[in-house]
Amino acid sequence: MLICLLRVTVIREGVVVKLNAVVNQRVDVSPYLLILRVMPNGWQLPEFTPGQFAVLALPGYAPRCYFSEPESEVPEANKLIKRAYSIASSSVDREYVEFYITLVHSGGLTPRLFALEVGSRLWISETFTGLFTINDVPEEVNVVLIATGTGLAPYMSMLRTSLRCSNPSRRIAVVHGARHSWDLGYRSELSTMQRLCSNFMYSCVISRPREEPYEWKGPSGYVQDFWKSPELAASLGFEPDPATTHIFLCGNPGMVECMASDLEAGGFVEQTKKQPGNLHIEKYW
Ligand SMILES: Cc1cc2nc3c(=O)[nH]c(=O)nc-3n(C[C@H](O)[C@H](O)[C@H](O)COP(=O)(O)OP(=O)(O)OC[C@H]3O[C@@H](n4cnc5c(N)ncnc54)[C@H](O)[C@@H]3O)c2cc1C
Repeated sequence: MLICLLRVTVIREGVVVKLNAVVNQRVDVSPYLLILRVMPNGWQLPEFTPGQFAVLALPGYAPRCYFSEPESEVPEANKLIKRAYSIASSSVDREYVEFYITLVHSGGLTPRLFALEVGSRLWISETFTGLFTINDVPEEVNVVLIATGTGLAPYMSMLRTSLRCSNPSRRIAVVHGARHSWDLGYRSELSTMQRLCSNFMYSCVISRPREEPYEWKGPSGYVQDFWKSPELAASLGFEPDPATTHIFLCGNPGMVECMASDLEAGGFVEQTKKQPGNLHIEKYW
């Protein structure tokens, strides 16, 4: 067992805050993409709906990973740096929660998260929240889950919790964009789901095929352009019509805004707190 490098408590505004969770697994997808599993330490994880997010935090004194860049403002040592992260694990798993995280080299929190090891402590919110969920989508409509980068995380939770291969009335598609093939986290799990479920389709697209060490035989370009391609239309196997389809967008705001305006022009309506809709949006920044 590795020794925890962080103190267990921090003092914030005169109050002692406990680092209430422990890293129980880390998988480095690439030097700047991390799958982190976190276990609560001495308390029970809350119930949550797939698609929701938790808040993770580390104190300013936590070390940054060695390949990060300096942050613009050095935080107070005892101040918790808090950020939202979509949960990637199934809501049925109550032992741990999993996150899929991109390194922002000059960021406040991610360089500190990338320095964590198995056994390291961190803080996690004791309630999870968010409206970016699939639960209210009618069972009989088709669903397209579109993401760039770590925007895939909430979909992993949805699929791991409730993908039903035996529901012939609903087709589910994941469209995932990343820069390189090695940035396509969860690719093998999603490919396996596709092999096992005839009503599930997984499609991935990379934007920098020229940087691949081997010839990339799949689609290339940006998600928003790939969406309009005959190649995607053929592999979807159904027409993403507003009357019969709900679409989810998550990740890079550039992709989200571009896709949202195209889809709204085609008749999709954004779901908000006040109005129901068939276009569900989560922006990461
Ligand atoms: C609801 C919600 C869920 C989120 N879920 C995830 C998640 O599952 N995985 C994840 O990696 N991030 C997620 N984020 C983003 C996350 O909260 C942080 O903003 C991000 O990790 C950067 O934190 P930082 O302190 O290192 O950078 P900061 O010091 O806060 O710098 C912020 C800047 O970093 C850039 N940035 C932020 N997020 C990203 C990103 N994902 N990729 C590239 N550049 C980025 C933007 O330019 C932003 O202005 C989510 C955000 C929200 C609002």
